Amino acid sequence: MKKNILKRSWAEPYKIKMVELLKVTSKQQRVKALKEAGFNTFLLRSEDVYIDLLTDSGTSAMSDRQWSAFMTGDEAYAGSKSYYALEQTIQEYYGYKYIVPTHQGRAAENILSQILIKKGDIVPGNMYFTTTRLHQELAGGQFKDIIIDEAHDPYNEHPFKGNIDLDKLDALVKKYGAKKIPYISIATNVNMAGGQPISMQNLKELRSYTKKNGIRIIHDMTRVAENAYFIQQREKGYANMSVKDIVLQICKLTDGATMSAKKDALVNIGGFMATNEWDIFEEARNLVVVYEGLHTYGGLAGRDMEAIAVGIKESVNDDHQKARIGQVEYLGNRMMNLGIPIVKPIGGHGVFIDAKAFLPHLSQDVFPAQTLAAELYVDSGVRTMERGIISAGRKANGQHHYPKLELVRLTIPRRVYTQAHMDVVAESTAIVYDKRHSIKGLEMIYEPKYLRFFQARFKKLT
Ligand SMILES: *Cc1c(COP(=O)(O)O)cnc(C)c1O
Repeated sequence: MKKNILKRSWAEPYKIKMVELLKVTSKQQRVKALKEAGFNTFLLRSEDVYIDLLTDSGTSAMSDRQWSAFMTGDEAYAGSKSYYALEQTIQEYYGYKYIVPTHQGRAAENILSQILIKKGDIVPGNMYFTTTRLHQELAGGQFKDIIIDEAHDPYNEHPFKGNIDLDKLDALVKKYGAKKIPYISIATNVNMAGGQPISMQNLKELRSYTKKNGIRIIHDMTRVAENAYFIQQREKGYANMSVKDIVLQICKLTDGATMSAKKDALVNIGGFMATNEWDIFEEARNLVVVYEGLHTYGGLAGRDMEAIAVGIKESVNDDHQKARIGQVEYLGNRMMNLGIPIVKPIGGHGVFIDAKAFLPHLSQDVFPAQTLAAELYVDSGVRTMERGIISAGRKANGQHHYPKLELVRLTIPRRVYTQAHMDVVAESTAIVYDKRHSIKGLEMIYEPKYLRFFQARFKKLT
């Protein structure tokens, strides 16, 4: 009998109830807007952008349920019922005991780093994240990358490029001693590696290693549900487990977490810190009052906490993740078919163009990824961002970090754009690719001290 070879496609498990009209600009307008923005896509005005793939952070579409939860927000200064709704949801879906809300992820990182890191400490992790590493450093720590080597190779198709190399970790423990390591900083679906997951097996091995050595695991759980979906799809033994159950299992292997609810949890603002240790919770409740607000709102409105609670539940829905990651894969596959060099496997929250391969005639000192992001905007009004030498910043000695990966990130907001938008994006990358040889680099003419990629300005090299 002939087998039916038609592969069923995914579709969104929702329909559109309201639309936001977009401005379509001319090339002339875009050239002018980009110049005014110092060739930094972060400095463009969003109304000059047609399809905004700058980030998936805080840009997702909330559901009708989240919007109605907004109306039930309890705006009491202290002891808000919305805080308890959020606490209960986090305990149930993520399994952490104590939580402190914060206005977004980096605020949770600040508080946790100040509590756990002493001057001279070492913080190993599976690739750095910009704000996470900065807070670790500001607290006196030193970040050490212990991700597997495959993660630094954009074409290596390892299914779990977010994995920790336990030998690298062991070498650090031997060199500095476990006492100097307050925790291992692990991210689920490693953002800077291109949205690549960590496997359950690797996490279990890390857990047993850290148990032996008395080291905590702190979980950057910003995209834990996307990571869980990849485990379900790729790891042996998880095909029949729900994303919801996998998420809980991941969290149970860690001791605490920081969360930017602006990603997985489908809200425009919000985050939290979570811990299973009472002492840390006590201190965090003290610190949050200094930086954020009372411990029962932490810089959020009651309605924000209600919307996060609903968003967490929606984020672990299997069909939601199938459509979310399906859309990213659709874009990535279209671009690959057009010959665009992208990071493989296609990541969870976006497609990452290898700017070194796209513009091989440009050295990293003239910022190929920054240049390519600028060119894409001029071509089609699609806004992307740099994840390369500009994002990596400078070392203590003033030299640039030279990261192996020099990427342009096309990040897909959740539930916002259609498949036709993805087609427009893919076609624009192909048009720019056709004229890649005529593209020259940029020169940095203004550089802020911290997280320079947000506000640096450039001028075109001629
Ligand atoms: C966005 C993000 C953060 C920081 O969260 P904010 O809400 O932007 O402050 C931390 N870690 C990762 C992996 C992120 O993607």
